[in-house]
Amino acid sequence: MREWQARYNARMPLCFDLFTLLPDVCVAYTRESILKRAQESGLVTIQIHNIRDYAEGKHLTTDDLPYGGGGGMVMKPEPVFAAVEAVLGGGPERAAAPDGEPFVETQAEARPAVPVILLTPQGRVFTQAVAQELAQRERIALICGRYEGFDERIREHLATDEISIGDYVLTGGELAALVLVDAVTRLLPGVLGDPTGALDDSHASGLLEYPHYTRPPEFRGWKVPEILLSGHHARIEAWRREEALRRTYLRRPDMLAAANLSEEERQFIAELAKASTEARAHE
Ligand code: SAH
Repeated sequence: MREWQARYNARMPLCFDLFTLLPDVCVAYTRESILKRAQESGLVTIQIHNIRDYAEGKHLTTDDLPYGGGGGMVMKPEPVFAAVEAVLGGGPERAAAPDGEPFVETQAEARPAVPVILLTPQGRVFTQAVAQELAQRERIALICGRYEGFDERIREHLATDEISIGDYVLTGGELAALVLVDAVTRLLPGVLGDPTGALDDSHASGLLEYPHYTRPPEFRGWKVPEILLSGHHARIEAWRREEALRRTYLRRPDMLAAANLSEEERQFIAELAKASTEARAHE
């Protein structure tokens, strides 16, 4: 049995722990709509931890100037380590050196295998496949950066994974963490009203999804394709598959190479390619 199936059968939620300096931003998004319902149904828990609560000193400082100079501030290691270790356990173990030497610190191996994911534009790029991989986990910790980013020791000694949501730079990791929480949560069985809802989604099947229509059947003279009103399920399915192929061919031909296509479907793509070459020749 896959891990998520066991968890679903046992009604064990997937637990997210978000570590951030801007908890309100995260709370606001996770309190609405599908994420809200998923939490109410016990399918996920989303705990938001304010890194500043773990900072020390009068000013509860969480950032400092970069060594070596240059602009911007860097997130200090102490509050981030303290926050993650307080929530997940682990942390340095103080072991007495045998011959009365001062205490030495060793990184505890004890922390259960919870991925500690740093959100950073330098991480591996988040895709639907990564979302599927993470949806198998029982618990996921996410660390959101701010300012110029993190002290490198957070990346080296606390994080177990680094994820970027795309090749652009945000002002903080909160939006990135929420993107990840959102995409992973909607894959969990029971979260979407329609249990097959996530299967056809763009990227889930290796293709972009077919176009959707709803009422009215005619809007400003633009009609819903006849076939969708026909009630003929097999023909509707065939139309949707063709539209998904056409769309993917036109917008993301790079995806077709990896898609799982039948001989007939490959033929259909070859015809689309031929028609577009001919159309170009007539221009
Ligand atoms: N100076 C850093 C960028 C700092 S941006 C660098 O060049 O790598 C500030 C924070 O925003 C980062 O620490 C990270 O947590 C978040 N962030 C910015 N862009 C992101 C992206 N594409 N994916 C995930 N997190 C991102």
